[in-house]
Amino acid sequence: MFRAQAIADEFCELVRIDSLSGQELKLAMLLIERLRDIGLAAHFDEAGKSIDGQIGNLWATIPASAEALPSIMLNAHMDTVKPGSRIHPLREGNLISSSGDTVLGADDKAGLAIILAVARKLVEEKPSHGDIHILFTIAEEIGLTGAKNIDYDSFHADCALVLDGGQDHGIYTAAPSAIHMTYTLNGKAAHSGVSPEKGISAIQAAAIAIADMDLGRIDERTTANVGIISGGQARNIVPPSCTVEAEARSHDMDKLNAQVAHMRSCMEAACQELGAKLEVEETEAYHAFDLPDDHPLVAVVLEVARDLGHDAETLRGGGGSDANIFNERGIPAVIMPTGAADAHTLDETLDITRDAESDEYLYEVIVRLQQ
Ligand SMILES: [Zn+2]
Repeated sequence: MFRAQAIADEFCELVRIDSLSGQELKLAMLLIERLRDIGLAAHFDEAGKSIDGQIGNLWATIPASAEALPSIMLNAHMDTVKPGSRIHPLREGNLISSSGDTVLGADDKAGLAIILAVARKLVEEKPSHGDIHILFTIAEEIGLTGAKNIDYDSFHADCALVLDGGQDHGIYTAAPSAIHMTYTLNGKAAHSGVSPEKGISAIQAAAIAIADMDLGRIDERTTANVGIISGGQARNIVPPSCTVEAEARSHDMDKLNAQVAHMRSCMEAACQELGAKLEVEETEAYHAFDLPDDHPLVAVVLEVARDLGHDAETLRGGGGSDANIFNERGIPAVIMPTGAADAHTLDETLDITRDAESDEYLYEVIVRLQQ
């Protein structure tokens, strides 16, 4: 319990420091201090430039203690979502929550606290291991930007353990691809009372298109959403333009492409019906990954979970994370639990018993991966 208490204290200190995406400097300074206490020098990369952020990703390496052992990357992200300013962690029994008007930020500061604890233990207990790269990323929550802007030729890692999971002991070994769509509809302005027939309502065209779309859960592996509509100039002007921001995700690329095509054709049909012009922008936000249960990394993580007496299963995530980018860049990555629950809500909590179990879990996985 002493160890759980120490990690919980570290966690509470981390969440008291604001670190919204792109504003991670103050938190990083504390992390640098903690890493220095452990005996590790840290440095920033250049990833922050792409978003005009305060800093880049934060790196530190525990050098290999023996040759020819696998090199492992340990990752958690430094940024938290809104509302995430002036977080006051409250402790009740084993649960830590926010004071109710902000998120807690256990996503992903529980991951940061676990990695610090494990790094400390690795340095103290000196098991034999290859290079261990600690990577604390920026701007994960606004498009995996930190992970996307790493120079992947500047280091080598055989695998990555991403501490960004939930409360159960399962590990995420698959996540979907996502495509982000921006539809810009151009109609024609007119006075809505004097000559509405001269106008073409871009908002009406968007409404017809969206009403025709299949959205939400499309099938077990595919989801779609229209998240933002903006447009119009005044109550008495037929709106000449409207922008619609949407996304689709799927573990299956064919299904994803079919869903995106469906949404595009709804837009095209509605614009044609009303005489509006359509501009479409579709970009792949991140690419799916799917590591089989017999993948060497997955097999080791599951084996350790079983040895520790945890119910171990592999899970398919519905969201994108830095793990998508690592897998895409050729570093097999799985997402491990942190003890956090209800991320991105005011009800977010951290179970410190589970948090401490995750710490033990991660340490054992690192040791076992060397064998
Ligand atoms: Zn996260």
